[in-house]
Formats: sequence, structure tokens, C-alpha cells
Amino acid sequence: MTDTATSVWNECLTFIKDNIKPQAYKTWFEPIKPIKISGDSLTIQVPSKFFYEWLEEHYIKLLRVALVKQLGNDAKLVYDVRMENAYSSSTPHTVKIPSANRNPLNPQGVTVPLEINRRELKNPFVIPGIQKVKIESQLNPNYNFDSFIEGDSNRLARSAGMAVANKPGGTSFNPLMIYGGVGLGKTHLAHAIGVEIKDKYPDKTVLYIASERFIQQFIESVKSNTRNDFIHFYQMIDVLIIDDVQFLSGKTGTQDVFFHIFNHLHQNGKQVIITSDRAPVDMQDIEQRLLSRFKWGLSAELQVPDYETRVSILENKLYRDGVEMPAEIVDYIAKNIKSNVRELEGVLVSMIAQASFNRKEFTLALTKQIVDKFVKNTKREVSINQIQKVVSSYFDLDVATLQSKTRKRHIVQARQLAMFFAKRMTKASLASIGSQIGKRDHATVLHACKTVDNLTETDKQFRKYVEDLTKKLTY
Ligand code: ADP
Ligand code: MG
Repeated sequence: MTDTATSVWNECLTFIKDNIKPQAYKTWFEPIKPIKISGDSLTIQVPSKFFYEWLEEHYIKLLRVALVKQLGNDAKLVYDVRMENAYSSSTPHTVKIPSANRNPLNPQGVTVPLEINRRELKNPFVIPGIQKVKIESQLNPNYNFDSFIEGDSNRLARSAGMAVANKPGGTSFNPLMIYGGVGLGKTHLAHAIGVEIKDKYPDKTVLYIASERFIQQFIESVKSNTRNDFIHFYQMIDVLIIDDVQFLSGKTGTQDVFFHIFNHLHQNGKQVIITSDRAPVDMQDIEQRLLSRFKWGLSAELQVPDYETRVSILENKLYRDGVEMPAEIVDYIAKNIKSNVRELEGVLVSMIAQASFNRKEFTLALTKQIVDKFVKNTKREVSINQIQKVVSSYFDLDVATLQSKTRKRHIVQARQLAMFFAKRMTKASLASIGSQIGKRDHATVLHACKTVDNLTETDKQFRKYVEDLTKKLTY
């Protein structure tokens, strides 16, 4: 046979592309690489074990038809899984897995479980036979999959969440990290996974915890000398959902304890679900060893929903609240509130409240008024990078100069202003601001903030700088 893997695979792709939605094609087929053909079997490389499981579950019939067309009735498919998240080795290596038994393409295939190199580690504190303590899940039943509207912006994260809910601890999405901007549904999705697991596996201990609370509990445990109890408590959980993990930034004690809890859970096949407002690569002041754990599983982004999804979210909410609203009004809201689902809902809630208090109809005028208020009140989240760019360009410098070691007065001032705004407009710690603005320490940043405060009071020109920059950074 002279067909190369690539040309056979390309033919398959043409067929597949015609039969599924473009987004699904992009997500699940574009990342696949054909590797080789030997006899009747085509080897394809997939980026992760999850990917392989997903293809097997959703696209195996389609793949079969496509492949049989190319290679005849005895066609076989072999997956080559790139294991980027394997324990103990940081360099990717390749594991070959024959397709699973249920794969009609390969009826003789044996399932070889992917070796994730798990070390057995028995928990000395949970005595076998003794009933588990009942733990309240802290889940909000309204945040479920039914109420989480699917769209291109959340499809991967939602699907991964579903996969985890079906087999907690049993997929390669461990941890599952959901990240994305404010109000895009991280908390909702995290709860939905927990709610679904509770529903499917009532015996599993699921716990949702906000990072702030976790930090608080840890601090209290240190004060009351019960740090070990704290750790053991968390080690008993089957599914741990920890929300807004970016708040662990700079908290080395809590990070350390979380690291141990995480390892224990992971080694025992327990599921960990994490949310964060940024991707692991962008996290500041989180220990490397913890970050590398986050990268073991899957990081799935929640993006800003497109117009259609925004309309669906609004319509769904109206439907659940039993409220009717003219389509042009829904359309107006969806067109004007773009980057935050919480605000989308906020506008609806205000509209419903206003209309019922004042016995008013939903009019476009009322809508405009309310939408306007929301848009104005929205403080844009700025990053330290943006701040540096804005300040540099205001003073006609480039960012490298701003960050440089020079002691020239006007550059020092610009640098201090950048630090001041970073402190004021982001959640970053002094140390983190310093390290991002020219690798200074936290004392330098603190000094900068004080200097700017003083100068703003005493120096008119300087006050003008602060005012101008505030405008530039907030609008
Ligand atoms: P985050 O945790 O990312 O800041 P939340 O999960 O709190 O965001 O979501 C904000 C609000 O938007 C919640 O009320 C949530 O129910 C709603 N929401 C977000 N995404 C969706 C979605 N895809 N479908 C329905 N509601 C959503
Ligand atoms: Mg949240």
C-alpha cells in the first residue's frame, strides 16, 4: 500500500468535517496528528488521554465510517497518547494504547490502562471499616448543568466538567482547572460538577470550598494547633472543589498545606477541581511545584460568551423566572453587555425589579437607562502590564526604560506611578508588583506608593499626572 498516513487521514477528515459542527471539528479533530499506517491500521496521535476517551465516546462511529471508506472493512485505529502530565517525568513521552474493547474498529484490542505511575499511599488516619464522617457538600443545587447554558465559549470546559462528573477521579482531568475572567461562570460550573457527582454517586464525599475560606480555616488551625486535623479532614474527601485558587498567591503556608492535601487526594484517585481567574502560566506568587500539579490535568478556559449564547442565557433566565420580555429588549441587552454573565443577569434583575415596582412595561428606554448604569459602573480589570504600557506611553517612554535601573528623576517618577496604580487597581501583592515592574522588592513598591501619595498632596503638576492616568486607566 502506498497511501501515507497523512493522505489517508486527510481523506478521513474531509468526510468528518462534513458531518459535524465546525466548532466540534476544530476542538476534537484539528489537534490530531496522523502518525503511520501499517497494514489496515492507522495510528493517530492525540494530545491527552482525555482526548482519546472523548473521541471513543462521541466520535467512534464517525471515525469508523471514515476509516472503513479508506482502509476497508478490517480497518483499525491505534491511538498514540501524548502524556504531558505524567507523574515523575516532566518531558513528554508517548504511550501506545490499543483501542478499548468496545471499540468496534478493534474488537480484539485489549485495554491497557495508562500507567500514571501512582504510588500507593495508605491513609493511616481513616481506619478501614469505620464509617466515614458525613460532610456537608456546601453545594448550591441551583448551579447545575441544566442551568449552565452551553455555547462555544464554554464548550470544552463544560464537556470536561461532564466527563469528570461521570467518572470522578477516573479521567485524566485531574485536577480539572477551570479558568476565566470575572462573572464567566467558573463558580457555577464548579458547583454543577459537584451537584452532578452527588446525584450520580451519593456515597461520595464532595466538598466545595472558596479559597478565602480555606485560607481562613488553615490560619485558625495553626492558631489552635490543629493543623494536622485540618489536613486529615481534607484528605478524607473524594471530590474537592476549590474555588478562586488565585487567592493562594503569596500565601506560602496555605500553599504548602494544599500541596500535601492535593498530592494525597491525587495519589488516591480522588478528584480535584480548581477554578482560577487566570491560566496556570499567568499565576503570580504560586509555588512552582503547585503550579506544575495544576498542569497535570486539564486547564479549560471559560471565554466571553458570544452574542447567541448571551441571548440563550437571558432567555433561559427569563423562562425560569416566568417573565416575558420583548425580543428587541433581550436583543438590546445581549448586544450591550458583552463581557460578564453576572452583569447580564444583573440587568435582568434590575429591569424586573424596576418594572414591577413602578408598574412599568419593559420599554427600550428603561432598558437603555439600566444598561447604561451597568456599563458605567463596570470597572475594567486592568493588568500590571497594561498599567505599565499606559504609564510609559503617557510619559513617552518605552516599558523597558520604565523598568530599567536608571535613577533619572522623571523615569523614577513614572515607575513609581506605575507601582502606585498597580497597587490601587489590581489585587497583586507588593512583592508581586515589584517583581513585575523591573524586579524590585516589596519595600520599593511600598515606598513608591507613599511617595505618590505625598506628591499628590503637595505638587500640582504631579496631581495632574495622577488624574490623567486615572482617567486613561479607567475608561
Ligand atoms: P465566576 O465564578 O466566573 O465569577 P459565576 O459562576 O459566579 O462566575 O457566574 C456569574 C453568574 O452568571 C452566575 O449567576 C451564573 O449562574 C451565571 N452564568 C455564568 N455562565 C453561565 C452560563 N453559561 N449559563 C447560565 N448562567 C451562567
Ligand atoms: Mg466565582
